[in-house]
Amino acid sequence: METISPFLDGLKTICWNLFIGANYESAFLYALAIVVLFTFYGFYKRGRNRAWLNKQFKGIGVTIFFVLVNSFGFALFVYMATEYAQAGYNSLGLPHVSPTFWADVPLWVTLPLIVLIYDFANYWNHRLMHMDWLWPVHAIHHSETEMNGMTTYRVHFLESLVMNLSYVLLLSWLGLPKEALGIGVLFLSLHNVYTHMDLDWDHGPFRYLLASPRFHRWHHADVPEAHGKNLSNIFPIYDVLFGTYYVPGTCDVKLGATGVPENDGAKLVLYPFKALYDYLYKVMPVLWRFLSNGMSHVFDEILRFKKLLRD
Ligand SMILES: [Zn+2]
Ligand SMILES: [Zn+2]
Repeated sequence: METISPFLDGLKTICWNLFIGANYESAFLYALAIVVLFTFYGFYKRGRNRAWLNKQFKGIGVTIFFVLVNSFGFALFVYMATEYAQAGYNSLGLPHVSPTFWADVPLWVTLPLIVLIYDFANYWNHRLMHMDWLWPVHAIHHSETEMNGMTTYRVHFLESLVMNLSYVLLLSWLGLPKEALGIGVLFLSLHNVYTHMDLDWDHGPFRYLLASPRFHRWHHADVPEAHGKNLSNIFPIYDVLFGTYYVPGTCDVKLGATGVPENDGAKLVLYPFKALYDYLYKVMPVLWRFLSNGMSHVFDEILRFKKLLRD
């Protein structure tokens, strides 16, 4: 993009190559290193509590398992699905913003705009994910009972699929420049690692401007009054606007999701499928009875009609 100044271009290169690296995997590794260091800090702060440390590392281990399963097992599937969605979207020829529209818009305008739009999509995706029928997919993210920065990566591949599809469609409709998108996503993912850390920071007067660890910790609280609250990742103002903001103070209630396996990778990967199976198992006999009753009714009617014709 020509409009990026040499300074921002340089900053981007530094971000990419030195600090974060060029891809998701190295961003993940840097975040992991910070989280491991922070976990040891927590261990000493808790008077060398070994049970706590073991649980933390077990949780981080399961999250790494998720990242591996998602990266090697389903990344191609998610990628192909989004490619097809993009191709389908393009072939529909829907009216959209032309990418040239952004050519003269400076990065300091497009960047906050991207984060704002992303988070708006996030908010509604997330709200959807907290509805009963999608909850078994999203429950995986809520399965951890101790927060740590890695929790942000604990996401089922079906959830990544829904999220990616909505981003691809929304962002291709807006035609936003790829370079700015890259920086925006970088900021978003680092901020997500930060809000999942085991900290009680609330950002004081800026608490509505930028999501804090305390704000997101309440999202992970397993108490009825906090369920489905604090759904935005970056801008709590969306929660204020749409009536889901909930931060009554320090969050020291229990975290997690009742009934969801806590740190069992295989069970967690299968959890949404098991929930679907259980649901069908319950619903099928009812559906079958309804259909067979309906069909016998239709046959009765046909027989009656035939008899009428004969008489
Ligand atoms: Zn959630
Ligand atoms: Zn979370």
